[in-house]
Amino acid sequence: MNARDLFDLSGKTALITGSSGGLGLAMARGLAEAGAAVILNGRDASKLDAAAQALIAAGHKVTTAVFDVSNEAAVMAAFDGFDRAGTAIDILINNAGIQFRKPMVDLAAEDWRRVIETNLTSAFLIGRESARRMIARGRGGKIINIGSLTSEVARATVAPYTAAKGGIKQLTRSMAAEWAAHGIQANAIGPGYIVTDMNTALVEDARFDAWVRGRTPSGRWGTPDDLIGAAVFLASPASTYVNGQIIYVDGGMLAVL
Ligand code: NDP
Repeated sequence: MNARDLFDLSGKTALITGSSGGLGLAMARGLAEAGAAVILNGRDASKLDAAAQALIAAGHKVTTAVFDVSNEAAVMAAFDGFDRAGTAIDILINNAGIQFRKPMVDLAAEDWRRVIETNLTSAFLIGRESARRMIARGRGGKIINIGSLTSEVARATVAPYTAAKGGIKQLTRSMAAEWAAHGIQANAIGPGYIVTDMNTALVEDARFDAWVRGRTPSGRWGTPDDLIGAAVFLASPASTYVNGQIIYVDGGMLAVL
């Protein structure tokens, strides 16, 4: 294949969970600019519509699917809807996630479950439904799970998030091991500290901001657009022989942590 075609996503359809804002929306825009039709997802329909309208105005093919990624019945209903509409997903980015900070001794089991279900169980559920259909269709597919630096290292006060993101790394490897024979590649991206709604409080905390800048070799926070290159690469024919990997997009932080 000509190197220029390696990153061409024309004719492909991508579902990006948690794409009403933040990293998900940036990656959706990147995939759309590479030629894919994109399906945006979130729980808040009006936020999702506003995001979709902006991409449509830029000339991209966009639809929306409002559902809670942590709810199995809602995931099954969404995929029934895709089937009824004749929508086949070629590329899945499991991006939706939540985080909050609380010492483990104060953590309720319900808090634990909510973070694990939103950040990890969702990737299993949506990955399973996507792979079932990719396998039946026989045309392979690309699955990209969003991890974190906490896929690799732990920090205090984010235990369920760290457990979920560590799980994302091993879930990605399990998907690669089980589905490679069907032409499906499963890889992950581990973002460093990126300026999004999830991190507003941290960006505004002068001490934390200085810590991030000081500990990141690139000397700055990441932006959502910094994720686009890795997402397009892993979604495209350029990564056909890359499987079960996690690519850290962190300005070099993990290398020196
Ligand atoms: P944001 O909080 O900016 O966006 C999160 C998105 O997920 C929103 O679109 C939100 O939409 C959606 N979402 C949350 N819960 C659900 C749910 N149950 N069902 C469906 N959609 C949901 O987060 P980021 O963009 O910062 O994070 C995106 C991913 O990147 C997460 O997995 C996060 O853990 C990961 N990450 C982020 C880092 C960062 O520094 N920002 C660093 C490392 C990893 P709605 O409100 O409509 O539900």
